[in-house]
Amino acid sequence: MSPADPRVVVLATHNAKKGVELQRIFDAAGLPVRVVGLDELAAYPEPAETERDFAGNALIKARAAAQATGQLAVADDSGIAVDLLNGMPGVRSARWAGIGKGDEANLRLLIDQLADTDYDQRTARFVCAMALVEPGGGEFVATGEMPGRLVLEPRGANGFGYDPIFVADEQPPGQPRTNAELSPEEKDAISHRAKAAGQVAARLRALLGGGS
Ligand code: IMP
Repeated sequence: MSPADPRVVVLATHNAKKGVELQRIFDAAGLPVRVVGLDELAAYPEPAETERDFAGNALIKARAAAQATGQLAVADDSGIAVDLLNGMPGVRSARWAGIGKGDEANLRLLIDQLADTDYDQRTARFVCAMALVEPGGGEFVATGEMPGRLVLEPRGANGFGYDPIFVADEQPPGQPRTNAELSPEEKDAISHRAKAAGQVAARLRALLGGGS
């Protein structure tokens, strides 16, 4: 990889699915860039996610990737914010039931915490912050949100994390479905991550000289 190759965007994650998703969004936006994940690059010391908000953690990861690789770098941080829990689990969403406990334990704990509450009270939102950092130091952060409500009986087999209990406000036609009952394309059309990535794509287009 040549220094600061504008056709390469490093995505600071080891999750290959996130790379495929971002590549799809950049392709749809007509951006001539290749998304490269951390598993394709020489390892560097990755920083801990120590900030209290999504944007701060996304920036920490994108800055480290831009600095270590000398390329444009993107990183995201996401989670679910539940109003009855004052915005928690928030940045702790992936580790809500404890380090290494996993999605199923996190989901069960959240359901237990919301026992004896009404559906109308159980408003929540998925939030994604996506940071774009230039090797020269320029920074841009976009935020996307998907508001909805939580059910206490998980439904559906698609998606991951808290998807089986989340019913987005914005629904495709028909009966309301949880995110895990939506197809990947239906979820992409309304997701917090796709909304943030769309803003990053627009910013990238402006940086690469194609206007905004
Ligand atoms: P990360 O940003 O990949 O670290 O994800 C943080 C955590 O937030 C995940 O482990 C999930 O628990 C939760 N999360 C983020 N986005 C979604 C989503 O689209 N569906 C379900 N859970 C999500």
